Amino acid sequence: MSDHSRRRLLSWTGAALLGLVVAGRRQVGHPGPRPPQRNERPPARRVDRPTTTSTTTTTTTAAPPPATPPPNAGPPIQVGTYEPGPTVPIPDPLPTPPPYNTLPPNRVIELPLTPIPVVPPAGWDEHVVGWSATGVPIQMFTSQGDDVRRRVLVITCVHGNERGTGPIAERLLHVPRPSGVQASIVPILNPDGWIRDRRHNARNVDLNRNYPWRWAPSDGGPFAGSEPETQAAMALVQAYPWDIVVWIHQPLGYVAAVPPSDRAFAEVWGRASGLPYRENLDQHGGGETWTAKAAGVPSMLVEVAGHDVTVASTEAHAAGFAALLDLLASY
Ligand SMILES: [Zn+2]
Repeated sequence: MSDHSRRRLLSWTGAALLGLVVAGRRQVGHPGPRPPQRNERPPARRVDRPTTTSTTTTTTTAAPPPATPPPNAGPPIQVGTYEPGPTVPIPDPLPTPPPYNTLPPNRVIELPLTPIPVVPPAGWDEHVVGWSATGVPIQMFTSQGDDVRRRVLVITCVHGNERGTGPIAERLLHVPRPSGVQASIVPILNPDGWIRDRRHNARNVDLNRNYPWRWAPSDGGPFAGSEPETQAAMALVQAYPWDIVVWIHQPLGYVAAVPPSDRAFAEVWGRASGLPYRENLDQHGGGETWTAKAAGVPSMLVEVAGHDVTVASTEAHAAGFAALLDLLASY
């Protein structure tokens, strides 16, 4: 990276996030929970991908259902190249979930479940945009490059038991980006839930009912925006003039632009990934709805079809992301 581009990057990260975004160099292996250090703000650093073994393992839980592709997905679509990283064991024992935080049904898992911390490929800068309720860093990766005209933010794994979202986020890091378009990706917004295979965060709050949009005191926390993961995402959404913010969930199988966002963003992703378009999405306490209707930032939701973690679904959403990037480049 040239000194010029490094200065641009440092300016980009340092000025706008005002101490919320802290960058750090990855260490191989799990760094362990880290308490928030509010005023820490070291410079952004490029993070290189360590050497890994490229093994793809197939793990099936309980009685294996047939590995069916998501509806309308069609054949896998090749977008760029991708070698999955090693399978890393989920480190924590599974706690007893409360009744409302039930485990999902049996899933087919064809890809390694994303390790925390997430390992990005070369060409991405790593930032810590906040900490989970137990102090695990929330990572964001931003693509390097000059002459940025358009910016897209992708936030995945808001619900920790939506296991397909981690591998999809890792896959998006390998999708080629057209010039002028910068991508930022938060692969695991809810690391406590991801580690424990639970929907909620460590405080038993459903993060996608916690945003201050038609918030209701059911399972959305003690008050709107109460959770550190929610606060991190809200600050990030409002920190930059994003052209579109993409929230990825499972398992409902549709795409939706949140009104008044331009539906073209979601339509191109849906066409490329084989998912239908849902009209008039409005989720109380939902991050995607808050983004568009309260923060005034264009927003869309991708609901991956099914609970499984499949190569076909992951490749289909890589194609969806590529189509979105091409649309942004054309603006
Ligand atoms: Zn979800």
